[in-house]
Order: sequence, then C-alpha cells, then structure tokens
Amino acid sequence: MCWKYHHWFSSDADMLGLIKELGASDRVIFERPVTVVHYQGKFYPFDSPQRWLSFPGFSWLDVVRFGAIGAYFKALPNGVQLERYTADAWLPRWMGQKGYDLIWRPMLVGKFGERYYRDINLAWLWARIKSRTPRLGTFQGGFQAFLELLADRVRQQGAAIHLNTPVSEVTPAAGGGFTLTTPSGTTTADQCIASTSPRLLARIAPQLPEAYKTQLTSLKSLGAVVMVLALDHRLTDYYWFNLPKEAGFPFLALVEHTNFMAREHYGGDHLIYCGDYLEPDHEYFQLSKEALLERFLPSLSRFNPSFDRSWIKQTWLWRTEYAQPVPLVNHSRNIPAIATPLRGLYLASMSQVYPWDRGTNYAVQLGRKVARMAMGEEAA
Ligand SMILES: Cc1cc2nc3c(=O)[nH]c(=O)nc-3n(C[C@H](O)[C@H](O)[C@H](O)COP(=O)(O)OP(=O)(O)OC[C@H]3O[C@@H](n4cnc5c(N)ncnc54)[C@H](O)[C@@H]3O)c2cc1C
Repeated sequence: MCWKYHHWFSSDADMLGLIKELGASDRVIFERPVTVVHYQGKFYPFDSPQRWLSFPGFSWLDVVRFGAIGAYFKALPNGVQLERYTADAWLPRWMGQKGYDLIWRPMLVGKFGERYYRDINLAWLWARIKSRTPRLGTFQGGFQAFLELLADRVRQQGAAIHLNTPVSEVTPAAGGGFTLTTPSGTTTADQCIASTSPRLLARIAPQLPEAYKTQLTSLKSLGAVVMVLALDHRLTDYYWFNLPKEAGFPFLALVEHTNFMAREHYGGDHLIYCGDYLEPDHEYFQLSKEALLERFLPSLSRFNPSFDRSWIKQTWLWRTEYAQPVPLVNHSRNIPAIATPLRGLYLASMSQVYPWDRGTNYAVQLGRKVARMAMGEEAA
C-alpha cells in the first residue's frame, strides 16, 4: 500500500501525459469528491461558489471578496512577482480579515506551522489556486499500482532499480564521473541525479563547493506524519476535511479516501488518512504507532459520534522528515541550480519546483528536465 493520499488535478498535464505514454489512461479515474472546512464545531462543504454562499461563516460580501481573489489568481498568467509579499499580510488586506481567518490562515498554519505561516510568500498561494481543480484523479488500484507499472516499464527499457539501497556518499572520481557508496558496496556512475532533500545532498556530497552547500542547507522544509486506518465502517460522508489547529484536532487533515475511490478497490475496507506537516523534531516523529493512535482516537468521534475503536481493522504509520518545502519571501532567488557545481551531479528535488507546490506532476516535469540536461539536450 502506498502511504500518501495522492490525487491528481485535471490540470496535471505532465503526470497525465506520462500515464498516457504508459498506455494506462483508462486506469485514471476522475471524480469530484467533497472537501469540507470546520466552522464553529461543524463541517461545511466548501468547494464551489454555491457552497461559499451557503457557508454560514460568510456574508455575501465575504463571498464576493473571497471569490474575487480566487478569480484574480486564476486569471493572472504568472504570479511569481507576488513572491515579494507574504500571504499573511496581503490576503487580509484584499480579501478581508474574516475570509483570511476562516479559510486561508488555518490552511497556512496547518501546512507551515506557527513558526513559518506568517512568512509564506503569496506566489505560493497563487500557484496553488492557479493550478488546482475541483475534479480529482486517482489510479485504479492506488498510487502504488501506478508506480509498479512505471517501474516495470523502466526495467523493460534496461534500467535497474535498487530498492532499500541508500547512497551515503557521492564522491567525484579521479578520471571523471562519481563513486557512490551504498550498504552493498561502491559503484561508479558517469553522471548522478539526486532526488533527495537538498540538505541530504549537502551531507552525502561533501565535496560540493561551500557556497552551494550553504544554499542547500539554508532552505527550509517540514516533515510529514500520516497514519492510515482501515475501518470496517464508514466514518464520514466526505472526502477531505481541512482542520484548524486551534479547534484542537491532533492532525491537519482527515481524508476518507474511500469516499473518493470505491472501497471495493481496497478489499472492502474504509480507508482513513490522518496527516500532518511538522518540524522533524516534533514528538510525533518519536511516538510509537500505538501511542500516536491513542492521541488521534478521541478526535475521530468528532467526525462521527458513533465511532468505536472496534471499527479499526489495521493501522499503518508513515513518517518522513522532508515533505513540504517552505517558500519564504523572494524565494526564487534562493533556489539551487539543478546542475550542481560538480560537473555531472544534478539535484532535482521538491524544493526546486517553485512556485508550484510540490506534487507528483511537478516531479515528472522536473525529472524530464533534468534527464534532458544530463543527456546534453538542454543547457545545464
Ligand atoms: C503527506 C503528503 C501528501 C501528498 N499528497 C500529494 C497528492 O495528493 N498529489 C500529488 O501529486 N503529490 C502529493 N504529495 C507530494 C508528492 O509526494 C511529492 O511531490 C513527490 O513525491 C516528489 O517526488 P520526488 O521524486 O521529488 O521525491 P520523493 O518522491 O520523495 O522521492 C525521492 C526518492 O529518493 C529516495 N532517496 C532518499 N534518500 C536517498 C539516498 N540517500 N539514496 C538513494 N535514494 C534516496 C527516496 O527513498 C525516494 O524514493 C504529497 C506529499 C506528502 C508528504
């Protein structure tokens, strides 16, 4: 099972193009599942102008201001110049304090935490609104089924994939190329593309020049913790719950995946994801799965008062220290070059898809770009 609650937007042209190339477009399912927000103890669908009008937190004027900002961002072809403003300063001014406090501020706090949310630049929000669609797509059998299809095709073309083989050192070799150190020994490569976090590349490639390493280690990012529960009952009627931290939920989002994709695809289970973006020193990274479940369980009755822990058939816990780059003001100046100063060593990471929020679509786009660079088809 793939741990992330991945979906695609209908605008994800690079990902959908790759799937087409693999001859698997008929396995992509697009639906319009319902996203809800929390307001005064209740959940309200909030994914269309009609829903904004019936949202009790908004007056008609709030709806107009909220909608006008959305329309402006959708129409603006390139919003990178907005990176000189913070979303926290700009949005209340133009959208009104209420729209900001009820919708965008909780999202920013949830995603970037108290430490960073005030500093997130507006271009990031522009990119998010510009590129996202209410129709969401997923792959029949889950994201893992797509990854397996892709891996098989890559192997058929002669590539070898070594799973569970972390590279601990990348050293320039005397005659050109690189020596890679892994738990199974050393290997050589003419060129090397790192898809790790920038911080990790700085550690495993110590011979990179100091200025580039400083650029890598100066970038901010957050980790993610996701608990997946398989239930034998349906928990809610909706797909995606955006949860404000101040309402006391122990995670940022609750996603009932099987309100999007039928549970028949998952052996009849109801799948729930409880996810959060956190700093890597947060206690959720240390707690055992059982201890974390105890933290999460009481909140599940807030989604369905009948919830009982006997509904839980199985749980999985996934954690990663590098999950969400943090785009600060004028971030475009801080993005490290894909071609590192060590000739033949490239970095292609989530931190470089800016202004777009990280997503598998942009990983495909960046992957193709770096491959062209390594093959000399695009200037490095
Ligand atoms: C909770 C969560 C939900 C998300 N939801 C969505 C979504 O709904 N839709 C969407 O499109 N995107 C989503 N994303 C974003 C998406 O997962 C990323 O944008 C995408 O995975 C980035 O691809 P990547 O190849 O850059 O990095 P990764 O997918 O992280 O791949 C990096 C790879 O490098 C490997 N690696 C790391 N260190 C080493 C090493 N030392 N040696 C060798 N290999 C190493 C890792 O094992 C990994 O396989 C989500 C992310 C998170 C965290």
